[in-house]
Amino acid sequence: MAEQKTNHINHFKDDYLVQATAKHSLLRCLAVRTTDLVKQARNIHDLSPISCVALGRLMSGALLMATDLKNKQDRLTLIIKSDGDISNLTTIATLNGKVRGYITDPRAISHYKSAGKLDLAQSVGKGNLTVIKNLGLKEPYIGSVELVSGEIAEDLASYYFYSEQIPTVIFLGVRLNQQGVAAAGGMMIQALPGIDDQTLNWLENRCLGFPELSELLAEGISPHQLLDLLLGVDADLEYLAESPVEYYCECNRDRMNRNLLLLGNEELTELSEDSDGITLHCHFCAADYHYTQAEVKQLAKTAIILR
Ligand SMILES: [Zn+2]
Repeated sequence: MAEQKTNHINHFKDDYLVQATAKHSLLRCLAVRTTDLVKQARNIHDLSPISCVALGRLMSGALLMATDLKNKQDRLTLIIKSDGDISNLTTIATLNGKVRGYITDPRAISHYKSAGKLDLAQSVGKGNLTVIKNLGLKEPYIGSVELVSGEIAEDLASYYFYSEQIPTVIFLGVRLNQQGVAAAGGMMIQALPGIDDQTLNWLENRCLGFPELSELLAEGISPHQLLDLLLGVDADLEYLAESPVEYYCECNRDRMNRNLLLLGNEELTELSEDSDGITLHCHFCAADYHYTQAEVKQLAKTAIILR
């Protein structure tokens, strides 16, 4: 008999995200492990160490922030554009834990702060973080802030503070070893309406000197345990939902057809002159979509009808 597939999450092994509240619903708490999906991103994009840390942190942050979305069709996009070696990062996440990412500099040179400690701030440099929320409305919500550090976690927290006026603490980490990605994940604690200074001070103190998140994850600490450790026994931590997270690209032939049709008849006719046909490459998952010359000609015809 075939083994029954279940949604059971192995807390000590699988990538997943957990949501909770603490301090009698004054704090919203999230933690995610992304080790496997960052491994997958590293393989897809053939990432250098620093590029892997950059994309891994941004994807982990995007999954945490995508919990703000309301519907499963909604999308949260994070874009970092900057003047460093890593100049362009894009990640897109959904409410149900799917994320994909793209980096224009997958093989950026890795600078180190000290032995074994990568200097992401230097590699990213100065620039902007843009947050786009596609909420099924005509116009997406777009917010943008200047990068405050380039380490990504602080930059996402600064977005919440300046664009949404929500005090937020974010931890993100990607740990590498000789084999590749040893551990990756993130944690986000947000103030909910009605929060008082005392609780905010308490949270600030809890965060001071908290160990490096990726080290804890590498030791096998689960997302549930991360929240336990950060907030402690006096936090009245109440766990809500938990859900798997994964690297998932939404490209398919239908979408590629639509993208091609947007080029219009004239450009498609020009492309159809190549007897080898054309190949479209997906930047997010490295999939190739080949179109024969006859198929491109057919699309050129369709583009006239659609005009
Ligand atoms: Zn794709």
